[in-house]
Amino acid sequence: MPIVLVEGKYAERKQAKKQCLVTGCTTPARKGKRVCCKHEHEIRKEKKPYLYWYGVLRRNAKRRKKVFTITLEYFTQFCNETGYIDKKGRKSGSMTIDRVIDELGYIEGNLQILEVGENSRKQYTDYWKHHSDQTWTEPAIDTSDIDGWPKKVVIDPDEEVPF
Ligand SMILES: [Zn+2]
Repeated sequence: MPIVLVEGKYAERKQAKKQCLVTGCTTPARKGKRVCCKHEHEIRKEKKPYLYWYGVLRRNAKRRKKVFTITLEYFTQFCNETGYIDKKGRKSGSMTIDRVIDELGYIEGNLQILEVGENSRKQYTDYWKHHSDQTWTEPAIDTSDIDGWPKKVVIDPDEEVPF
């Protein structure tokens, strides 16, 4: 829904009441601002979508303790190439940013977009990639300076499968 600010007398009346100037919003405006906290957020999202979604991704990465080294420039380019932000806006087939190789985190070359449903299906595929010496191949990305990246995964054929 596009954000529309009220104008003229209506705006003056809202300002006198220290209300957010967005049409239909009765929440108090933030101190010294024209809109409420929620709408400030929404406006930022509308005006600078790349910066907004970059921030969301970085916060999520931090929360999940994932490596995050991509720049806003790289992210912007990634969005343009994949149409991520456009697709995200649509109701059906919502898209998420996914890591090709989970352990590598959010680094250049390791991002892809998936439909929300595909993301959970992929977990199984990933499991087998890591646990079967038949299909696991070394990633084409330089992993030498990533902390904790296993240099060589030794696979025990008798290892128990946890599900
Ligand atoms: Zn508001």
